[in-house]
Amino acid sequence: MAKIVAVLYPDPVDGYPTTYARDDIPVIASYPGGQSAPTPSAIDFVPGQLLGSVTGELGLRKFLEAQGHTLVVTSDKEGPDSALDRELADADVVISQPFWPAYLTAERIAAAPNLKLAITAGIGSDHVDLNAAIARGITVAEVTFSNSISVAEHAVMQILALVRNYLPSHAWVAEKRGWNIADSVERAYDLEGMTVGVIAAGRIGLAVLRRLKPFDVKLAYTDKHRLSAEVEEELGLTFYPDIPSLVRAVDIVDVHAPLVPETHHLFDDALIGTMKRGSYIVNTARGAIMDTGAVVRALESGQLAGYAGDVWYPQPPAPDHPWRTMPWSGMTPHVSGTTLSAQARYAAGTREILESWLAGAPIRDEYLIVDGGKLAGTGARSYSTSGSGSSPGSSGK
Ligand code: NAD
Repeated sequence: MAKIVAVLYPDPVDGYPTTYARDDIPVIASYPGGQSAPTPSAIDFVPGQLLGSVTGELGLRKFLEAQGHTLVVTSDKEGPDSALDRELADADVVISQPFWPAYLTAERIAAAPNLKLAITAGIGSDHVDLNAAIARGITVAEVTFSNSISVAEHAVMQILALVRNYLPSHAWVAEKRGWNIADSVERAYDLEGMTVGVIAAGRIGLAVLRRLKPFDVKLAYTDKHRLSAEVEEELGLTFYPDIPSLVRAVDIVDVHAPLVPETHHLFDDALIGTMKRGSYIVNTARGAIMDTGAVVRALESGQLAGYAGDVWYPQPPAPDHPWRTMPWSGMTPHVSGTTLSAQARYAAGTREILESWLAGAPIRDEYLIVDGGKLAGTGARSYSTSGSGSSPGSSGK
């Protein structure tokens, strides 16, 4: 029998919801390109309800306990005395969400001798030290595509919010009770005609490009895998061979690359300094792709006109994290990929992965990041590991 430890974010401060804003969510059976949405044998939750917090338990308890397995759910993940550290000692499986990451460092993996499977309920497994997982033969899997469109929608929203100065305008009417039109528009522009540069046109990046096409913008991108000529032509894309050449040619940079050694702290003073004055950055990929201080300095100097995203480092950030209070910011907590709509998909996908693994059956190839002691599936295409040392995002215990 397996012991499964799920690290989930805390319930809402006013308690687990008893009612919801809407009665249902659309049924999404497949994703762009044809990959099917998760196909577990059954689900024990109501799609549209809160599943990603502690009480929601990703809807897994009934299924696991019916088979005699043990499910431990906690949000206590920080420091050596955390519930996570205690439970790791005999855990077979750890489930974590990037929004509230259980950083599986090399030290934690060494302290978890039974650990065989690390599931990301969502997308982005940089909170796991992939080198350590490879060395130990631990399988790392995520629910590929489950929240890609959710994130793409958030990125488009934040691009528009920054360029049109939405949040300060809203603050004038709601918080300051004003009608300050000139104050609101002195930093407001149209997106039309601007050049948007997307870093990494994978599932999310390509979805952003498709959503932005009708805005009559100029679209540019870079990726280590170039898109097909047909897609480039259909969307009118300009391809740049690398990130430095892209960022200096565009008005808005939108980041969707995974956090890997090549992207860790990529946006520093030097790179941001090559961008057009008054550029915007939207980053819903990973906070550690940015040098935290460089972003703040660029906003304060006017080199950047705005910065938005939902990803920070570490997560949760300290109360005095400078991104909470930096100017011209549209930051949210890490929420883009955990809408109620997304939760229903990644909870079902987590169950699908568990059903496969517990039955000794293969996990879908597209869900795999590490398997059999090497990068596998989506991991082999989208991730990279350093030759030695730990993964960049897994050091935030
Ligand atoms: P994906 O695997 O479909 O696409 C990733 C793309 O990045 C691939 O096309 C790959 O070729 C490209 N890439 C990798 N390294 C690169 C590099 N050094 N330079 C340029 N391109 C590079 O993944 P996806 O579903 O689009 O997700 C992308 C990332 O978004 C995830 O790794 C995760 O970090 C982040 N994400 C965030 C949220 C959120 O809630 N904010 C949710 C899901 C995913």
